[in-house]
Amino acid sequence: MAIAPASPRLPLFSERRVSVLLPLPLAGAYDYLVPEGMEEPPPGTLARVPLGRREVVGVVLGPGEGEVEAARLKPLNAVLPLPPLPPSLLALVDWVAAYTVQPRGAVLRMALSVPDALEPPSGTPAWVATPGVEGDTLRLTAARKRVLAVLADHGAMPFATADLAREAAVSPSVITAMGKAGLLHSLTLSREWEPPRPDPDQAGFPLSEEQGAAASRLRSLVSGGFSTTLLDGVTGSGKTEVYFEAMAECLRLGRQVLVLLPEIALAAQWPDRFAARFGVEPVQWHSQMGQAGRKKAWRAVALGRAQVVVGARSALFLPFPDLGLIVVDEEHDSAFKQEDGVTYNARDMAVVRGRLGAFPVVLASATPSLETIENARQGRYGHILLPSRHGGASLPRIELIDLRRHKPEKWQPEPVIVEGGAKVEDGAKDGVVDGNGAASGVQAKSVVRHEQARMGWLSPPLIQATREALAAGEQVLLYLNRRGYAPLTLCRTCGHRLQCPRCTAWLVEHRRTRRLQCHHCDFQMPLPDTCPSCEAPDSLAPCGPGVERLAEEALFRFPEAHLEVAASDTLPGPKEARAMAERVRSGAVNLIVGTQIMAKGHHFPALTLVGVVDGDLGLSGGDLRAAERTHQLLHQVAGRAGRADRPGRVLIQTVDPGHPVMEALATGDADRFIDTETEERRALCWPPHGRLVALIVSSTDPAAAQAAARALGRTAPLAAGVDVLGPAPAPLSMLRGRHRHRLLLKAEKGVRVQGMVAEWLSRTPIPSSVKVQVDVDPLSFL
Ligand code: ADP
Ligand code: ZN
Repeated sequence: MAIAPASPRLPLFSERRVSVLLPLPLAGAYDYLVPEGMEEPPPGTLARVPLGRREVVGVVLGPGEGEVEAARLKPLNAVLPLPPLPPSLLALVDWVAAYTVQPRGAVLRMALSVPDALEPPSGTPAWVATPGVEGDTLRLTAARKRVLAVLADHGAMPFATADLAREAAVSPSVITAMGKAGLLHSLTLSREWEPPRPDPDQAGFPLSEEQGAAASRLRSLVSGGFSTTLLDGVTGSGKTEVYFEAMAECLRLGRQVLVLLPEIALAAQWPDRFAARFGVEPVQWHSQMGQAGRKKAWRAVALGRAQVVVGARSALFLPFPDLGLIVVDEEHDSAFKQEDGVTYNARDMAVVRGRLGAFPVVLASATPSLETIENARQGRYGHILLPSRHGGASLPRIELIDLRRHKPEKWQPEPVIVEGGAKVEDGAKDGVVDGNGAASGVQAKSVVRHEQARMGWLSPPLIQATREALAAGEQVLLYLNRRGYAPLTLCRTCGHRLQCPRCTAWLVEHRRTRRLQCHHCDFQMPLPDTCPSCEAPDSLAPCGPGVERLAEEALFRFPEAHLEVAASDTLPGPKEARAMAERVRSGAVNLIVGTQIMAKGHHFPALTLVGVVDGDLGLSGGDLRAAERTHQLLHQVAGRAGRADRPGRVLIQTVDPGHPVMEALATGDADRFIDTETEERRALCWPPHGRLVALIVSSTDPAAAQAAARALGRTAPLAAGVDVLGPAPAPLSMLRGRHRHRLLLKAEKGVRVQGMVAEWLSRTPIPSSVKVQVDVDPLSFL
């Protein structure tokens, strides 16, 4: 359509119109008029626009559509003093919206996630000498002369009042008086953050031959436009050091670098290693950062001042004006998938951003996803292998412990001695009063409680190996991917199980806080004294182990150990995680009882033994990727052992040592496992050989949710190569009070599923009380 040319003689609110996309869940953009006197804003410009009675910030996409008559359009209120969002980011927003079947505005909102960042930081007043004023030629007090001398010494640099007063050794009132007298000129200094610049040429570790070859291949890709490369190296092979070289190359070209990491790996040692190689801390982006930190980071990226950003998945939508490289480390990790709101996989969308921006993308992993392996095998991705550990360290020896033959034994806690009348310790049962304090010179009023024998989770061989490692001055990780004390609490009298009132999930006991928590929503309650169902007192019993309960046993079995529990409850953020890592490296901790928060990123040279307490945990009741995921996770955990000169050993407790995952781990033959998995999936047309789109239908009204799910079942697309499974109640049939049903569209690779799903939704009436969430390439099937 035609646009009136920009002309200063046009009447107010001329016909010049632009199309503006708003960060709201809307697919379309709105036209606004460009007010008289305002230059036509280029695409990407951020502008304040009226919307109803509100004002919102949107992004100018280009010339308006012209469908609405000009008289009914409103003008832009203002253009923000920020560089326009780069075209490749706008293209990414469109692309992600189309791919995930989400409104464009909802995707844009991820790029404008920090509304505060759109405002410039508040300025500080500062001073410069008024031109022509020279201290030597004027009759001035000594104090005033010193002020002018300081300014003259520093060229034209403006000084904040406090700094100038300090440097010149005068009181601030001298400076303000000089301002009034016209000797000084005040201006406002923007406090825009300038992150320190990483130095690409600071020497890194000398690379081994294998690493050097990999690094030079990556380096050569940096200036070569778009490519995707899998950096496939065993744990401890030095993948980080290798991709650091590609990053250095990109920095030398003056372009920005983004490194995406799963949040918990970011919490480990990455920033320290970056600082060791490049001399400064990287700019970070993760969920633990407050608004102020995000604002600083967002602006530093937008203004092109942040050279390197390391972040969790949402960093992908930062407004880099000149991105030249993305590294996705631990590319197989499901943390890259966002499950709510816009469901997208940052790993895959990183590749899209690379293609749109014509720069390379590196995917690093010791256990690449089947999708990525398939892409590498098909030649779509380059493939660089690092088959050996750095510095001659050997890969850890992995052995299985058959729990059917090596049963964990019960253990008898020491009697608990409490002062008379004091509250009984945790878990103490059937206490026996020993009024004589015969136990060991305890005062007469003391009470001794003899506890019941407790369940054990550590088999004799694992206990033995742990003792040996600790005795040799080495460190041990006991790995159990379950937070809290016990995953289930039940009543011994009536069998009642404590369940979340809002979710189909058991409540998990957390003994540290003496509370029951739902791990799916934020529901919490104090641990009750009586059974909520039959009211029997003292009848609730924990069932199964979490890390807190395992730690109890470990403290009993290894009383000399310096034990620490590492779970997201005890290490809620990167700061705590780094402090913990430091305690391990310094030797203050030698026995870690940890969840998957400990599985990746960490490098502890003295850690030689990893004990996997429940190797079968991820395999039961799982989805199509249960085996793949369990293999990846256990492989990663195993990779924590023996990373330096002392060889590592991994013991995996399992009741199913014949399972393909256990065999693959024990024999180290990951390739065979991957081949079998791939073939099985090919036969069934599962990803990566077919495509999946899940629809999750939910409502607080159970009947409405079910009716809508059935309606979608009836209108499901019928096409060659397409199959719709369901509707069926979701495994998590209630979540946060919403009743849930699932449908799964399964299609052959070539089918354009997005259009099909959009069309399916558009011709199925869904009441407003029901939400339908579209999940393209689902990873979770709960
Ligand atoms: P990966 O990510 O492949 O598991 P890392 O990059 O974490 O491996 O490297 C493992 C450890 O070996 C790190 O502590 C790293 O600093 C060290 N390392 C790797 N390559 C070298 C090298 N060429 N010289 C010295 N140390 C190295
Ligand atoms: Zn819940």
